[in-house]
Amino acid sequence: MIQDIAPHQYDNTYKPVPPERGSFALCYEGRTAMVHMTGEAVAFPTFADLEGLNDDIYEDYTYLFTIDEKRFYLVTEINRERLSEFTMENVEMFRHVQPRFLAFAGITGLQLHNWYQNHKFCGRCGKRMKKDTKERMLFCEACHNMEYPKICPATIIGVTHGNRILMSKYAGRTYKNYALLAGFVEVGETVEETVRREVMEEVGLKVKNIRYYKSQPWSFSDTILMGYFADLDGEEEITLDQEELALAEWFEREEIPTTKTDDSLTNEMIMAFKNGEL
Ligand SMILES: [Zn+2]
Repeated sequence: MIQDIAPHQYDNTYKPVPPERGSFALCYEGRTAMVHMTGEAVAFPTFADLEGLNDDIYEDYTYLFTIDEKRFYLVTEINRERLSEFTMENVEMFRHVQPRFLAFAGITGLQLHNWYQNHKFCGRCGKRMKKDTKERMLFCEACHNMEYPKICPATIIGVTHGNRILMSKYAGRTYKNYALLAGFVEVGETVEETVRREVMEEVGLKVKNIRYYKSQPWSFSDTILMGYFADLDGEEEITLDQEELALAEWFEREEIPTTKTDDSLTNEMIMAFKNGEL
């Protein structure tokens, strides 16, 4: 999965020390990131690469995290007209580019970038927020409001029935491969209740024997995904929610058309069932 970067070590301890010339500078604009691409190989600029393009780069930065001994920072206000080697590329590339630890850094940085962008001002009183020095928190000096990064819990659900698993395709999305059912946890419900509710809403089926599988940070949508398998309870006839799903159908284990990728929890769950590990 995208977060599996061993032997590299991700360290998200907040230690906002100043960048060095060799530190990585992550720069985003909308759903694009500044990278140097050579085929499938991705590289981020270092501060040394960018120091001629922004005089304040060593003052105006945001510490993000460390992987191994390398520190990653957010930077803004880069004069891109003078950048030849680096281009702005759609962040979806992080699903497949190499090396994988830089792809993981890229999407994790994106989530933090979006959070900082969306919390420049206090949501309670409207004054400008300040960065805390001890933890990753923004605070308002005027009304003492504190903001921490928001992570949205969501479920991925593998509904199984003997030797079959329920697979679906989303309606109206760019992602066209088979997926499992999925949905966000709503206020006031347990994750198990989310599993039951989403399966009923999306395909009109009841489930039982809900088992936790694994989780995955999915920074493309500020999400922590929690994967569950559940057994069909009762009738197997699908009533499709056509606003959410284009189709949903039962697949025999041997007929699952999915092949292995190394990005998503959904893919790992489908492949685990296909390979008879469950
Ligand atoms: Zn405030």
